Amino acid sequence: MTRSARLFLSLAPALLLLLLLASAPYAGAVLAATHTKGGLSVTAPDDMAEGQPFLVDIRADGAAKTAAVEWLGKRAEISLVREGGASRAQVLLGAGLGQVPGEHMLAVSSDGGRDQVTCTVRVTPGVFPEQRLNLPPKMVTPSKEDQARIKREQELVAQAVAVASPLRLWNLPLLRPVPGEVTSAFGLRRILNGQPRSSHSGLDLDGFKGEPVLAAGQGRVALVGDFYYNGKSAFLDHGNGVFSMYFHLSAIGVTEGQRVERGQEIGRVGSTGRSTGPHLHFGLKILGQNVDPTSLFEAGVPLAGGSKGGS
Ligand SMILES: [Zn+2]
Repeated sequence: MTRSARLFLSLAPALLLLLLLASAPYAGAVLAATHTKGGLSVTAPDDMAEGQPFLVDIRADGAAKTAAVEWLGKRAEISLVREGGASRAQVLLGAGLGQVPGEHMLAVSSDGGRDQVTCTVRVTPGVFPEQRLNLPPKMVTPSKEDQARIKREQELVAQAVAVASPLRLWNLPLLRPVPGEVTSAFGLRRILNGQPRSSHSGLDLDGFKGEPVLAAGQGRVALVGDFYYNGKSAFLDHGNGVFSMYFHLSAIGVTEGQRVERGQEIGRVGSTGRSTGPHLHFGLKILGQNVDPTSLFEAGVPLAGGSKGGS
């Protein structure tokens, strides 16, 4: 056996493990089923890993104009688009970070509940890396004053992202807001001084201070502000309850209520808030669920019904 063959064999188990880990979040995401009742058909995945976004396909016959979607305690009104003799919509949903594994009900109804389809999507546990850090306690626990500020800011954000407007502005694939590499993965479990902290709810993308940050998709600016943890931030509303978030900016270039196009500059990379160096924290929230945006950048999202793929 040659030296390189021996080296390959000795590395093979590690390579296989890496491959398994890399594919784990998407395991089982390919299977989808179509559920029909009356004139309404809903195609949804059978199961989905925690933290992953997915698409649901809705078809209604006749003249239905809207559909209501209920998922994980939230409800969204969706405008249907006429296509041939039917009305159609694609809905982007997610099994968010921290979602309890098990069967969860997805309910879809057309125009005022005339037809209703319910099915279940099984959420499987996500596989996330872990990071242990030891910091001086003063840096870990905010002061009473800061805690009050954090609470106010959390309420402000919760209010801004609670909206699910029927008008769909989102489109796939999403634009990667900066070209930099991922420096901190989605879902990373952080343990500070032995205490578990909230998991990383977005992606950290490498960038230099002042680098332009581009809108991931067409949207409306829902909220801008300078927050304790997230620093200078912008929240974009893409309709149907889909929001993208851009944190630690050095400058914000948009104002609340403003309409932005996909690829429009919305701010500059920085290190404001609780951040150790210039980078962009990019987050995606769908009906209140924090999901990993990675698969949406390349149009690699698991499509319900297998009707579309790639490109
Ligand atoms: Zn981050």
